[in-house]
Amino acid sequence: MTEFKRDGSHLSSYPPVEKWNDWIELDPEAWPRRVEKHYQLVPTICFNCESACGLLAYVDKATGQVAKFEGNPKHPASRGRLCAKGPATITQIHDPDRILYPMKRSGPRGGGKWTRTSWDEVLDTFGARIRQAIQENRGEEVMYHVGRPGHDFIMERTLQAWGIDGHNSHTNVCSSSARLGYLLWHYADRPSPDHANARFILLLSAHLESGHYFNPHAQRIIEGKMAGAKLAVMDPRLSNTASMADYWMPSYPGTEAAVLLAMAMVILGENRFDATFVKNWTNWEELEVDGFSARGQSFEALVEALKRHYAKFTPEFAEKESGVKAEVIVKTAREIATAGSRFASHLWRGSASGNLGGWQPARALMLLHVLTGSVGTPGGHNLNAWNKFVPRPFNNPPPQKRWNELLYPQEWPLCVHEMSPLLPHFLKEGRGRIEAYFTRVFNPVWTYPDGFSWIEMLRDEEKVGLHAALTPTWSETAWFADYVLPMGFSSERHDLMSQESYAGKWIGFRQPVLRVLQEREGKKFDYTYQANPGEVWEEDEFWINLSWAIDPDGSMGIRQWFESPYRPGQKLTVDEYYGWIFENSVPGLPETAAKEGLKPLEYMRKYGAYEVTTAVHRLNEKPVVPADLSGSKVEPNNVVTKDGKAVGVMVDGQAVVGYNTPSRKLELFSKTMADWKWPEFALPGYYRSHIHRSAQAASIGKPAEEFDKRYMPLVEWPKDAKGEVYTLLPIFRLPHLIHTRSGNSKFLYEIAHKNPLWLNPVDARKLGDIRTGDLLKVHTEIGFFVLHAWVTEGLAPGVVACSHHMGRWRLNKEDQIERMSSAWVDLKEVGKGQWKMRQLSGVEPYETSDPDTQRVWWSDAGVHQNLTFPVHPDPITGMHCWHQMVRVERADADDRYGDVFVDTNLSFAVYQRWKALTRPAPGPGGLRRPLWIPRVVRPEEAAFYIPAKKT
Ligand code: SF4
Repeated sequence: MTEFKRDGSHLSSYPPVEKWNDWIELDPEAWPRRVEKHYQLVPTICFNCESACGLLAYVDKATGQVAKFEGNPKHPASRGRLCAKGPATITQIHDPDRILYPMKRSGPRGGGKWTRTSWDEVLDTFGARIRQAIQENRGEEVMYHVGRPGHDFIMERTLQAWGIDGHNSHTNVCSSSARLGYLLWHYADRPSPDHANARFILLLSAHLESGHYFNPHAQRIIEGKMAGAKLAVMDPRLSNTASMADYWMPSYPGTEAAVLLAMAMVILGENRFDATFVKNWTNWEELEVDGFSARGQSFEALVEALKRHYAKFTPEFAEKESGVKAEVIVKTAREIATAGSRFASHLWRGSASGNLGGWQPARALMLLHVLTGSVGTPGGHNLNAWNKFVPRPFNNPPPQKRWNELLYPQEWPLCVHEMSPLLPHFLKEGRGRIEAYFTRVFNPVWTYPDGFSWIEMLRDEEKVGLHAALTPTWSETAWFADYVLPMGFSSERHDLMSQESYAGKWIGFRQPVLRVLQEREGKKFDYTYQANPGEVWEEDEFWINLSWAIDPDGSMGIRQWFESPYRPGQKLTVDEYYGWIFENSVPGLPETAAKEGLKPLEYMRKYGAYEVTTAVHRLNEKPVVPADLSGSKVEPNNVVTKDGKAVGVMVDGQAVVGYNTPSRKLELFSKTMADWKWPEFALPGYYRSHIHRSAQAASIGKPAEEFDKRYMPLVEWPKDAKGEVYTLLPIFRLPHLIHTRSGNSKFLYEIAHKNPLWLNPVDARKLGDIRTGDLLKVHTEIGFFVLHAWVTEGLAPGVVACSHHMGRWRLNKEDQIERMSSAWVDLKEVGKGQWKMRQLSGVEPYETSDPDTQRVWWSDAGVHQNLTFPVHPDPITGMHCWHQMVRVERADADDRYGDVFVDTNLSFAVYQRWKALTRPAPGPGGLRRPLWIPRVVRPEEAAFYIPAKKT
């Protein structure tokens, strides 16, 4: 039996730490004989999603191999619990088809022929190409493109050491819109909800089962519910999360902000808001709206102006837009007001990632927090920056002097992260080229929209000179690389991670389990790949060695950053890198370790995690340090300024630090939006998404008076697109799968492996009595895909849905993408930019060293819908707006399950229509983007200004 304690301590059934060196279990396969198995338990961190839960690797002493993974009870965020993907790590590391050695292509790019190479050859080749690019002042031609980071800071440091502006990420297909909505309020780009202590929790999308940091958050949401909190879920899909809710609000996609603003109006209208909080902590004095200026006015006048401004957001208006009943909106708004400072929420993907203007729901949701005073409170909304801890190493290179316009182009000055989904189109437009390209745990051909444009880019050696795929598994993108470089899973690598899992701060240490154990026994390794299966390596050592290969004699100033802090001039080791950090940059860790007679690194190797602080709240109320107060003055709006810059806020007679915004307050009024050409969005608001019914009507020539072409492009259907118009939700996760990496887990793919089109019975009738299993053809703006129907009442009418985790494919029958998770396909370019894919076979049993591969009983690998999606860059955030307007019809006689057709000429045209909606830089003072909005791997300030054109 297990025991759960509300004080945050652990399940009691875990092996006690004292027994981790020799943990004994009975061998279940020997039953009924009692045969003991002896294990050494080594903590590490799960690598299967961003949550960074703690794993315990059970290493069988008899075989020296990892036998299973369970939860690490000493990990403060996951507390011994895991989702299905944590224990399934065992199937990933023992997958007989995994990549074990570095490989180099031996035929034409994309030809699927590989030969084994050595790590030394890889380092020499890339070192020389990168060295030459940097020396020839072509640093922007070196690009690192990350899918799942799984570490903190080390890559930023590496790229700055090289002096390049080359960090690209997946964030603009993931979370950029949500981030901007939060950033505009308080600089932190995401919430850290204190679910466990909340009284009311509002989730937009399926956060409880598959959201960001979902296992650590899910257990705290349930903890809050067990203590009496109510749960509301806004999602058109009856997800497992919605099924746990007290209120399911199946809102029409893209209308969430209208519902949230209607809730805000209920709270404002009934005067149930926290006036003191709003007055003290928002920049209300700066507000200008509808001809009203708050400057010099009373707070009461401001409240009346807000009520006038939001008057149209009645519950009835919100019901008309969203389909959520007006009485439910009123009831939940009142419950939120009652919860007050104990109102928690989360919004990450779903509404934010699906919709044009997807940043507005986050901004509107924050308005509810501000009105209830639930910012920074126990049970409320905390800032991620307060709960994430990234300790710094012994030295750091200066910011780069360059600005790479392939990453941050002038059209999207407010994009939160790099405009990476547009890279193929940028190269097609001649904006640049890439000399050395690293895709790292990143599979854009499959996970991104418009995958055929990625193939066209990757196969073109003029556009991409040299491409290495650093990956633990085969991927559709690796097929088009020059090198495939195997990187480790959870138990095969070092990484340091922290996330905002709860109202505290912690770090987790991933470690190569077999190396650590053998080193404990006195064996020595130069590199982790010598202890891992085959020659699977880890990125930390790879980047250190590549940096030395770029600058072997130190003359370029790069090598110095990868030299030991303890042995001058010698190559940095991973033990030294992390050892220094644990000794010097983690408050309290050296003392805690010393109590056990351990060095900090030994402590982290023993426990795998360390809690830095708990109960972190109200950091905005920290007093301003005396040095900042000296010479400062208090402005009429209570902002404390020094040398013209805000350094704090006066609250109740005390100068406190506030937030990192330009005003040091929560920005109800965003001067940034006004200054950067979007004055109509200076306040939280609502505008219609690209898949709104008005846009659907306009696309088929029906009268659509409310279609607003300032904000959304008119969809132009391909000539052969037929059928009823729907909104497709293509981004819901299945809780047990994780993008590309779960493709080599037999446990996970056995659980589910198909992605039918969800369809309400009302729509099934409308489309001609469609039954579950019937073949449907789904047309997008650039092509179509064919899949089975699943008729279900678990989805609101008018919307169709398809999970994004399926549809893996491979071009070789016998190898590369794992055969348990992929279909073998025929892929043809039938005309310039016209791509046709047909499945030749689904999943079949196959022979390997693992007998389970012959027991594979499923045949369906799903259908790859993402290929048929054009890019939809939000004109403000740059986020790819995933929801698709589609036309659905019964499949034709010559259509087959899994068929995909795409015309990339059309996808380029769609890209141009969306680009035309932007309002490009320069902003004030000739800036490329606001100085205060964070930028990954931030260059020096001078690089933020657009250089004057030479005449
Ligand atoms: S939530 Fe699951 S996949 Fe993510 S880190 Fe935790 S155990 Fe791993």
